[in-house]
Amino acid sequence: MSQVYDRVALIGLGLIASSMFWAIKRAGLAGEVTGYARSAETREIARKIGLCDRVCDSAQEAAKGADLVVLCVPVGAMGAVAADIVPVLKPGATVSDVGSVKRHVIEAVSPHIPDGVHFIPAHPLAGTEHSGPESGFAELFDNRWNLLVPVKGSDPDAVARLRALWEGMGANVDEMDADHHDLVLAVTSHAPHLIAYTMVGVADDLRRVTDSEVIKYSAAGFRDFTRIAASDPTMWRDVFLTNKDATLEILGRFTEELFALQRAIRTGDGEQLFDYFTRTRAIRRGIIDAGQDTDAPDFGRGKTTS
Ligand code: NAP
Repeated sequence: MSQVYDRVALIGLGLIASSMFWAIKRAGLAGEVTGYARSAETREIARKIGLCDRVCDSAQEAAKGADLVVLCVPVGAMGAVAADIVPVLKPGATVSDVGSVKRHVIEAVSPHIPDGVHFIPAHPLAGTEHSGPESGFAELFDNRWNLLVPVKGSDPDAVARLRALWEGMGANVDEMDADHHDLVLAVTSHAPHLIAYTMVGVADDLRRVTDSEVIKYSAAGFRDFTRIAASDPTMWRDVFLTNKDATLEILGRFTEELFALQRAIRTGDGEQLFDYFTRTRAIRRGIIDAGQDTDAPDFGRGKTTS
């Protein structure tokens, strides 16, 4: 794979930025990668582990002269970070982001983008429950989707270049409209996270009743909820504050279905339960067939409990 950009700047040095750095290095996609994080502690760790060719002490210093600047901070912080770096952006540069919500980021960042600079929002559909500069790894994006959400009038060459970078990092790339993105992600990621947070919260309340049985006998179903519910609180607070309408729409539908299943249990309607679970099992099959998860029992953890 050959170099796509001379200079890439990563603003925010957490899971996604550090994974991007290692993936860019793996394939030689950039001449130099600069990085900046707001806390001295994160910058110190980054320097120690060799994350970025040059760790800068300001976002402006990192972004100055870059051909691509990627905003890798929580969704609620994108606007302020964009406002900070615009004075140093070079003409023809591209600004992108990796935020989990797109309409809000477009509204927060677009007004700051000067003429002659391209703004191409993006969202890699890959992550883990870990965060911070040490959590990244080069393989995070391999065979995962990255959605590009070009704004109206985007320069096709700039979009093609960003696509080449993500493909070079191992991702499959698609383009999507911002509102559609936010609805799809509300179904596939945002609402499931809220449900996991809720389920773990319920179990935590119950723990006080059952002493530590919930943890001691924690089976695969619950453990998977706790993994999701361990995700970064700042990131997920911002997701729900900024993808409000789509998440509420999906949670409304979820509540209706939950009531229907609750009723089936109460009335002993086994047929309805069986049919419902048969339909959902087919969805799992589809995800495995699409190469987006492993068919190994218990996600390949080894021992299976359910
Ligand atoms: P992370 O590991 O928690 O890192 C966040 C980075 O942003 C840190 O360097 C942090 O700086 C910085 N930051 C936090 N609040 C800030 C603020 N108010 N102003 C400036 N900088 C701030 O996060 P991440 O998981 O990489 O997520 C980054 C972005 O990617 C988010 O927008 C998220 O929605 C998106 N995303 C995440 C996932 C996922 O699964 N994690 C997947 C796809 C997309 P300090 O270290 O100095 O605190």
